[in-house]
Amino acid sequence: MADRLALELWDLVHGDVQNVEVWCNACGHHGLLETRWLVDRFGSRFPVKGVAARCRCQCCGSRDVDSRPDWTNRGPGVVTRHDRRM
Ligand SMILES: [Zn+2]
Repeated sequence: MADRLALELWDLVHGDVQNVEVWCNACGHHGLLETRWLVDRFGSRFPVKGVAARCRCQCCGSRDVDSRPDWTNRGPGVVTRHDRRM
């Protein structure tokens, strides 16, 4: 099992995680980016955490952005869920 902190997009494709969740620390806006789209763009060996560094908030323009795998469809108890939809 891969270290969750060192996850790469490739790991998500293999784990059948369809999306990467990205959110803004400045205004709380968040959204989902398709894993396969990210692989096309950045390559499969790109770190999930690195996605945030390439993003800018669509709402406020902040670069204080975080990213992590969207485990929503992987069953309960994996990580804390974000149910707040904007
Ligand atoms: Zn924002």
